[in-house]
Amino acid sequence: MSAVTAIKDLLSSFMLTELVKGLALTGRHFLSPHITVQYPEEKTPLSQRFRGLHALRRYENGEERCIACKLCEAVCPAVAITIESEQRDDGSRRTTRYDIDLTKCIFCGFCEEACPVDAIVETNIFEYHGEQRGDLYFTKDMLLAVGDRYEAEIAADRKADAKYR
Ligand code: SF4
Ligand code: SF4
Repeated sequence: MSAVTAIKDLLSSFMLTELVKGLALTGRHFLSPHITVQYPEEKTPLSQRFRGLHALRRYENGEERCIACKLCEAVCPAVAITIESEQRDDGSRRTTRYDIDLTKCIFCGFCEEACPVDAIVETNIFEYHGEQRGDLYFTKDMLLAVGDRYEAEIAADRKADAKYR
């Protein structure tokens, strides 16, 4: 270190230059608008393509959309989906079991991309939790219940999402 630099450092220490710089920075941020969001009262906007809790949808007449083609089960990289199916008396095929283990799911969205009838979808719902082992194992009835409850929102989202495809 040269003598000039040493003198500059010494003067800087006596004049508390670094402290003043730090206080100036604090002062600038103190006066600038706050960006902290007071969750849950305030929420940030979600992306149109946010992938949250899964739902199984029905048609307007109440019929299940899912035709048990098992494409979603086949494409799922986490092996989180389990489907069993049978043929109905009218010849149509429907699931007898449709489970998603959300503790395995990585929310990649492949299942909804693969579905030919828009039956399995990922909603905007992210405020859910489990307290015991098995709480995040969603059965067909649970997934249909989510779909029934949020169908209006899901339909609106799918319509808006179509613009980006
Ligand atoms: S979002 Fe991805 S990981 Fe989750 S169930 Fe669908 S395909 Fe499987
Ligand atoms: S949810 Fe869609 S992709 Fe999965 S089995 Fe049903 S129809 Fe096929």
